[in-house]
Amino acid sequence: MEFADRVTRVEPSATLAISALASELEDDGVDVVDLSVGEPDFPTPENVIDAGQAAMDAGHTGYTTSQGIPELRAAIADKLRDDGLDHGPENVVVTPGAKQALYEVVQAVVDDGDEVVLLDPAWVSYEAMVKLAGGTLVRVDLSPHEFALEPALDDLQNVISDDTELLIVNSPSNPTGAVYSDDALAGVRDLAVDHDVTVIADEIYDEITYGVEPTSLGTLDGMSERTVTVNGFSKAYSMTGWRLGYFAGPEELIDQAGKLHSHSVSCAVNFVQHAGIEALQNTDAAVEEMVGSFQERRDLLVDLFADEGVEVPVPDGAFYMMLPVDSNDQSWAEGALEDAHVATVPGSAFGAPGYARLSYAASEERLREAVTRLAEGGFL
Ligand code: PMP
Ligand code: GLU
Repeated sequence: MEFADRVTRVEPSATLAISALASELEDDGVDVVDLSVGEPDFPTPENVIDAGQAAMDAGHTGYTTSQGIPELRAAIADKLRDDGLDHGPENVVVTPGAKQALYEVVQAVVDDGDEVVLLDPAWVSYEAMVKLAGGTLVRVDLSPHEFALEPALDDLQNVISDDTELLIVNSPSNPTGAVYSDDALAGVRDLAVDHDVTVIADEIYDEITYGVEPTSLGTLDGMSERTVTVNGFSKAYSMTGWRLGYFAGPEELIDQAGKLHSHSVSCAVNFVQHAGIEALQNTDAAVEEMVGSFQERRDLLVDLFADEGVEVPVPDGAFYMMLPVDSNDQSWAEGALEDAHVATVPGSAFGAPGYARLSYAASEERLREAVTRLAEGGFL
């Protein structure tokens, strides 16, 4: 068979590939501490599961309108309004996961040869999505600034031009856990407005922050007409397998990307959408508890690494941490998995060589075990 250039030029998802490798080892009877894939380790809140089951029992098993059921879109519009964004339900498209939302938006905005700016380290799928759309990537490296955006604004200014079509901003960030400051976001706004750039604000970790309140980029003056806000249910409500997300933005974007949506997935799963309403409206206590646990685990890991003489940048959000490792992070991660049986993702996959990304969505006992194994194996 002959394959299209657009698929042969991308690699499979590194995060999912490593997690699959870890599962293979586990199937062979090896006890792996899997800190690779970014997936909360808590069950979906019970009331959300009940709502999904009740919706199935009530017969919500057919297609829905392509954009998603009106009640969920209204609940999403309410959530966005709480964040300071003014979108009506008609400006929201419900998707099977935030990944699909991002995919549709990138496909709708990026043409062959269009320039897209990423802030490195960046989540692995942005690059692939841009390449699939035929875009070219320009990357700004935040690594020299301990992953903060503000000190890198000059670098961003140097690469953004009138030729830039799209900028993707992910705060709180995967893989660094950084939450970008208001001053940094204002700097992004100034550049985006000056050069008429469309911006994707991927805010999927917005509920998971520690003592800081993340600002939604689309709320800044001049941003509402150029920002597509993407979010999803996987992380905040521990619903990765349900596949539910959304994007919200200006009407013409909804029309264009909506065509891709209707011709590809048709709609998100009907009863899952009903569970999504419950997740948005009745999970405050559950979310607070999960976020509290993530924060304790973050603090524990920072301390455990400090005990081993390793200083890690302390993240303010998400459940990831960047561990400084060998300059050849790929072989470090392979060794850590094969010899110490600790699965991590090499930083190079995110454009951050010399680091490994750890997802601390694991119990304190497993986190302690991971650090012990890495230390004993000579990996720290
Ligand atoms: N954006 C970021 C930054 C992510 O880490 C993920 C994780 N998978 C997604 C989007 C997509 O999440 P999902 O498709 O599960 O909603
Ligand atoms: N976003 C998660 C991660 O970074 C899930 C895997 C993926 O979709 O890439 O690990």
